[in-house]
Amino acid sequence: MEEKILLGEEEIPRQWYNIQADLPSPLDPPINPATKEPIKPEELAPIFPMELIKQEASTERWIPIPDEVRDVYRLWRPTPLYRAIRLEAKLKTPARIYYKWEGVSPPGSHKPNTAVAQAYYNMKEGTERIATETGAGQWGSALAFGCMLFGLKCTVYMVAASYDQKPYRRVMMETWNAKVYRSPSTNTEFGRKYLQNDPNTSGSLGIAISEAVEDAANDDRAHYALGSVLNHVLLHQTVVGLEAKRAFEQIGEYPDVIFGCVGGGSNFCGACFPFVADKLRGDKPDLRVVACEPMACPTLTKGLYMYDFGDCAGMTPLLKMFTLGHAFVPPPIHAGGLRYHGDAPLLCKLVKEGWIEAAAYHQTEVFKAAKLFAETEGFLIAPESAHEVKAVIDEAIRCKEEGKEEVIFFNNSGHGHFDLQAYDAFLQGKLVDYEYPAELVKQALENLPVDDGTE
Ligand SMILES: *Cc1c(COP(=O)(O)O)cnc(C)c1O
Repeated sequence: MEEKILLGEEEIPRQWYNIQADLPSPLDPPINPATKEPIKPEELAPIFPMELIKQEASTERWIPIPDEVRDVYRLWRPTPLYRAIRLEAKLKTPARIYYKWEGVSPPGSHKPNTAVAQAYYNMKEGTERIATETGAGQWGSALAFGCMLFGLKCTVYMVAASYDQKPYRRVMMETWNAKVYRSPSTNTEFGRKYLQNDPNTSGSLGIAISEAVEDAANDDRAHYALGSVLNHVLLHQTVVGLEAKRAFEQIGEYPDVIFGCVGGGSNFCGACFPFVADKLRGDKPDLRVVACEPMACPTLTKGLYMYDFGDCAGMTPLLKMFTLGHAFVPPPIHAGGLRYHGDAPLLCKLVKEGWIEAAAYHQTEVFKAAKLFAETEGFLIAPESAHEVKAVIDEAIRCKEEGKEEVIFFNNSGHGHFDLQAYDAFLQGKLVDYEYPAELVKQALENLPVDDGTE
C-alpha cells in the first residue's frame, strides 16, 4: 500500500477542465446593476485581461494551459495524493481516506494555481500592476508571488482582522515585493468613508474587494484580480482534480465521497469538478460531493439563492449565488479565508440543483479535527482546510459504525504555518463559537438589489 502517489512532471495537465461545457442548463449570467442586462465583455475590460473575460464565459470543455504557466506549476506540481493511513488507523475505520496536498506550493495553498495564470495573462496584455484584496493573506501571497514571477507590481488590501492577526503573511507578501494596506484603508474613497462610519471595524472581504476594484478602475495601467468565486478561477483550479483523477486511476480507485472547504468555492470546485463531470454525465450517479463551510458564515446552508453584489460597496456586477447579503460582516473567526458573504455561481447552481451537498461546522470542533490530523498525519493544516477534515473524520466514523468500506477524498487546501495564533487560542481553550443568527441573515438580505423571485 502506497502512502503517497506522486505523478511525474509530464503529467501536469495541459488543459483546464471547464464544467460550463457539461452543465444541464446554462449558468445565469452576471448582470449589470444599472441596466439589469447581462454584462457585456467590453464592460469588464477596464479591470480584467481579455483572455480571462473569454474564459469566464467560455463553454469549451478544455482550455489549454500556456507553457509559461505550466513551467511555473512545475515548481511544486504535481502535488502528492496522500493516503491518510495513520488517521484511518487512529479512527479504526474501514474507509480509505485520500487527500490532495496543496500546502506544498511556495505560498502554501492552492491559490497560486490561478494567481500564476492570472498574472501571466495580465503580463501578456501589458498590465503593469494588479490590485487585489486578501482575507487570510493566502490569496495576497499567491498573487504577490505570481506578479513577481511575471514582472508586475502588486497592491493588496488585507482585511483588518487578518492584518492584525497574521503579520507574517504581510511580511511574506512584502518579501515578494507587494504593497500591502490594512483594509478598510485611507488609500481609497470607499475605505475612507467606511472608516469614518465605523473606525473600529474588523473589515471584511466585501469591503477589501470594493477598495481593490476602485483602485484598479482609477488607474489605466492597473487591473484587478479575484482569487475565488469567478468561473475562470475555478477553471484554473481544476489542475487539482485532474491530477487527483490521474493518480486515482493509477491505483485503481475512485472516490465514493469528496469533501472540501468553501470560502468562495475555488479549491473545492477545482478538486471536485473533474469528478462531478462523471456524475453529470450519468457515469457516477452515486458519487457524493460535500461543500464544508463555517457556522459563522453559512452561505450555502443559510443564505438565499438570488442575485447579489460580489463586494460590499455594490461596485461589481450582480452574481446569481447563495448569499448572506453583500453588507454582511462575518464574525472574526480564525478561518479568515472562509469569511465571504457569497459563493461561486457555478458551485451555487450545482448545490441548488442537488448535485452537491453542503454542511456547516463550528470552529472549535474544526480545530479539534485539525489537532487530530496533526497528531496522526503530521501536517499542521490551515483552519480553512480543517473544515473538511472535520467532515471527513465524521464520515470515517460513520463508515466504522456501519461497516462500510468507502473511498473518501478531500482537498487539503493549505498549511497553517501562519495560523499558529489560532492554534494557540484553541490549545488554551480560548476559541469561541459563533452561530450566525437567522434574523441577521434576513436583515442583511433586505438590501438586496434585484428580487427576481427565484430565491
Ligand atoms: C483561500 C483559502 C480557502 C478558501 O477559498 P476557496 O476559494 O473557497 O478555495 C481555503 N483554504 C485555504 C488554505 C485558503 O487559502
